[in-house]
Amino acid sequence: MAHDYRNGQSAGTNSGGGGGAAQAAEPGKRTLTESAFASAGMAPVVQRKVDPPAAQPAASATDTRVRSGASWCAQYPTGTTIAELTDATFQANVQAFHDAMVAAATPANALNISISATYRPPQRAHLMHYSYNVHNGTTSPEDANAASAAAGININWDHGDLATSRAKAGEMVTTYVIAYAPALASRHTEGKAIDWTITWSGSLMIAKKGETTQLDCTGTGTTSANLHAVGASYGVHKLASDPPHWSTDGH
Ligand SMILES: [Zn+2]
Repeated sequence: MAHDYRNGQSAGTNSGGGGGAAQAAEPGKRTLTESAFASAGMAPVVQRKVDPPAAQPAASATDTRVRSGASWCAQYPTGTTIAELTDATFQANVQAFHDAMVAAATPANALNISISATYRPPQRAHLMHYSYNVHNGTTSPEDANAASAAAGININWDHGDLATSRAKAGEMVTTYVIAYAPALASRHTEGKAIDWTITWSGSLMIAKKGETTQLDCTGTGTTSANLHAVGASYGVHKLASDPPHWSTDGH
């Protein structure tokens, strides 16, 4: 599942974010507003309605972040259909290549096409990247929080102590089945890649786009150089080092 992350940015990238203490500003601001109203003789009724319950500290009442853990992994699912590819040109090219394979196949070929990943939301790539880094200690929970806040993801990587924070991030690494350091961006997050397993029996006789000469394809989608040539004619390029992965440019 995570095989394609080798192709994008390198691992171990720091968040590069600044301090993540923006959430502390809200309660203090409200207090100033309220006292300003009070000193001006105006009724602070509306402001009081949004005050946190007296029994709770203001900080926890305004912190709606959900702590890191395996439950996050079901969010932002990866697409598993051609229709979910967000790059319209690539989507059309993949569909045309797919349809050409289906049209060329005979019953004896028993062609089978199984799609495992198309578009991957950047939020999912972000969570994979930071769970891996927090778990391995290359990014601190604090820095990960700053990066996630900047990305608009309401997660709290800090569980109060580093060992627990790293363990909870590790839950996510396990659930995502991450094998390699995940990049924040890849052809999948651009909607320009597809992971699919293509199998058939015997010779699949198929022509390049716009041509009539059929190429004899044997093997699988991973191994058939002739099928890779046909795919390329449709603008769908094989990455040799990554068994199910094809994209706009082979990356
Ligand atoms: Zn891939």
